[in-house]
Amino acid sequence: MRLFNSLTRAVEPVEPVEPGHVKIYACGPTVYRYAHLGNLRTFMLGDLIRRALELEGLAVTLVMNITDVGHMVDESSPEAIDKMQLAAEDEGLTPTELAEKYTRAFLEDSAALGIRPADRYPKATEHIGDMIRLIERLIERGHAYVVDTGSVYFDVQSFPGYGRLSGNTLDALRSGHRDLEVDPRKRHPADFALWKAAGPGRLMVWDSPWGPGFPGWHIECSAMSMRYLGDRFDIHTGGTDLRFPHHEDEIAQSEGAVGHQVVRIWVHGGHLRLAGHKIAKSAGNVVRVPELAQRGLDPLAFRWLAFQTRYRSEMDFTWEAIEAADHRVRQLRRRMAEWAPGAAPTSEAARAFDERFRARIADDLDLPGAVVLVNELVSSTDVPPAERYGLLASWDHVLGLDLEREATSGWRPSDRMRELVAERDRARAARDYATADRIRDELESMGLEVMDGPSGTTIRPRI
Ligand SMILES: [Zn+2]
Repeated sequence: MRLFNSLTRAVEPVEPVEPGHVKIYACGPTVYRYAHLGNLRTFMLGDLIRRALELEGLAVTLVMNITDVGHMVDESSPEAIDKMQLAAEDEGLTPTELAEKYTRAFLEDSAALGIRPADRYPKATEHIGDMIRLIERLIERGHAYVVDTGSVYFDVQSFPGYGRLSGNTLDALRSGHRDLEVDPRKRHPADFALWKAAGPGRLMVWDSPWGPGFPGWHIECSAMSMRYLGDRFDIHTGGTDLRFPHHEDEIAQSEGAVGHQVVRIWVHGGHLRLAGHKIAKSAGNVVRVPELAQRGLDPLAFRWLAFQTRYRSEMDFTWEAIEAADHRVRQLRRRMAEWAPGAAPTSEAARAFDERFRARIADDLDLPGAVVLVNELVSSTDVPPAERYGLLASWDHVLGLDLEREATSGWRPSDRMRELVAERDRARAARDYATADRIRDELESMGLEVMDGPSGTTIRPRI
C-alpha cells in the first residue's frame, strides 16, 4: 500500500518497521462535547487504512488517544482555559464524569459508522507519569526549559527540524505572534508548553518536579504513541487542522527525546463542509450520528458518501447526497440478496475485478476509484452473480457497509457457532491449522458456509 506522506509531500510505500505488522497512531477526540460527522470522518481514516492493510494480509495495531486534559481553548495565551474544565463547569459535572459521558458517546457514534474499535484507547489523565518522564528527558537533552512560575516550555530553536511538517519557519512564526499575548518568559514566541503551572481554580492538578500543574496538549501524543508503539512506528493520522501546531510539536518532542525519526508516514484527512459551510458549533450546523437514524437513514450510508471524495480533500455533506447514498447502500444489499449464495471469485473476469479493486485501495486509499468499480461490477454481465456476491463480500472488509445484511437476514448464529468461530480465529492466529480445519469441518457439518477474511472467520447458512 502507498500513502501520501504530509512530511515529504509524496506518495510513499508503507514498509513496516516490523515486517508484516503495521503500527498506527490516530489522534483521537477531546472528550468535552459530542463528535460531529466531520470529526468522525477523520476518525474513520485510521480504521480505513487498517482495513486496507489487512486486505493485503498485514497485521495492524491501531492506537487512538482520548484527550481528557490539557487541550486549551487558545493554546497561545498564557492564561488559556482547558476545554475539559470549561465544559465540566458548564454542565455541572466533574471532569471525569464529563470525559466518561463523551467517551461513551464517541464510541457509540464510531460503532454506528462501522469504525472498528482501536486496539487501545489510552487516556491522557492515565499517562501523566509518562509525560513527566518525557519532559524530564527533554530538559536533560537541552530541548526544554523551566520558568520561574513552574511551567516548562519546549525550546523550538533547539530543534532544527521545527517547521518541516507545516512549512512554517521560525521567523514567520515570530512575526505571526506579534499581536498576540505571549508569556515574556519564553525564549521564542513559538515555544510551547509541555507542563503548565496550575492557576487558581484549576480542577485537574498533578504533582511534578516543577510544582503542581498539568500537561500541555501535545505531550500526551508523544508519550502515549511511543509507550504503545515504540520509538519507531509506521503511520500517524489526524485531521488536517492538527498538522500545526499539534503534530509539528509532537515531532519536535518525540524526536527531541529519542534523537531520531519516530513516525514514518503522516496522513492527514480533509475537512467536512455542510452544504458549502464550515462545520462549527457556533454556526449551528453540527450534524451528529444519531440524527442520521432519526431521519430514517442508515448511518453506514455516511461511509458510502465519504468514499466518493478522496480522504485528503475537503468533502461536502448535504442531506440530498446522504439520502442518495442511503438509497444506494440498500440497493446494493438487495442485489446481494438476489445473488446469494455467493461463490469464490474464480472466473477470469472476477479475478480481474478483484485485482483492480485492490490496486485502487492500495493507491493512497483511492475509495472514489473503488466506488466506481463497485458500480461497474454490479452491472457487469461478465461475472456470474454468485461470484459478484463473493467479490463484494470480500471487498466489504474494507468498505464496511454490511452488504450481506439482507442476504443473511432472518438468520443469527447460535452461541455455539460464535464460540466455534472465536476458537477457530484463535487457532488461526496461533498458526494451528489442524485445529482450524477441524473446526471448519464442524461448522460445515452444521450446514454453514465458512469463509476466511482479513477480519477472521465469517459464517452464513448454506442456501
Ligand atoms: Zn494527538
